[in-house]
Amino acid sequence: MGRITVHLAEESGFCFGVRRAIDLSLRAAEKEGQVATDGDLVHNQHVLDTLRDKGVVSLTKGERPHCAVLIRAHGVTTHARQELIDIAPRVIDATCPMVATIKKQVDRANDTGALVLIVGKSGHPEAIGLKDDRDDVVIVDNAKFLDSDELKKRIVKASSVALFAQSTTLQSVFADCEKNLLALRPEALIKNTICSPTQKRQAAVEALAKTVPLVVVVGDPRSANTAHLVEMAERYTRAIRVEGPNELDEALFENISEVGVTAGASTPDDVIQAVISRIEQIA
Ligand code: SF4
Repeated sequence: MGRITVHLAEESGFCFGVRRAIDLSLRAAEKEGQVATDGDLVHNQHVLDTLRDKGVVSLTKGERPHCAVLIRAHGVTTHARQELIDIAPRVIDATCPMVATIKKQVDRANDTGALVLIVGKSGHPEAIGLKDDRDDVVIVDNAKFLDSDELKKRIVKASSVALFAQSTTLQSVFADCEKNLLALRPEALIKNTICSPTQKRQAAVEALAKTVPLVVVVGDPRSANTAHLVEMAERYTRAIRVEGPNELDEALFENISEVGVTAGASTPDDVIQAVISRIEQIA
């Protein structure tokens, strides 16, 4: 094998919201000795281990916190927020400002009587928080939402309809949902609320995948935005996901002189750099 040139995507790795939540947790842990996060702060074991060593621990379900609790970048439901306020000595809200803005827009549309559809992953903490306990806010996973006769009827009957996106949604999925909704309700309010860091990462991986025979996406198997990056890259080239340098299979790099690298929003810079160094050593 010859020497491999690695091209790092123009935008990759930690997004603004994740970086901010980590900074807030570290600052609190330094000041108060320990801080508990409401679930894992990121989908990355390496980051979680480093944080734990510095006093940032994950709160397990049902556990009563004895230190400040930090709400993650994804946000939580109003009910879950109140529960934390009731049981924790102090609550630090690290909800990403971009998620908070989407939530305000969803609430406003729903308060004016609109049936709100949010394109996202049902079961994802951000989607759960955006929906909150509102009956007329519905999470739709993909453009097949009109296959449900019940939802179709609700959309037709509603006085008004609005469409939003969970911040990490794939652009193409949102576009397909928009097209299908407008076919049924041409006057529907459409707000593409995919956040700008996500949009930039998706555009960057697309541009990169068009120019290299292989894209390596560094990220945790549980990370939805990592999976989206793989999906986007696969439209143009071969793509693999690895959690770190040890998962790189040399056989995949045979007869390849250029490789693209990108990373999910939970992947720290040192892991990305370790993957790049390992690829460059394959010769
Ligand atoms: S993906 Fe976007 S909205 Fe979500 S935490 Fe990161 S910056 Fe905020």
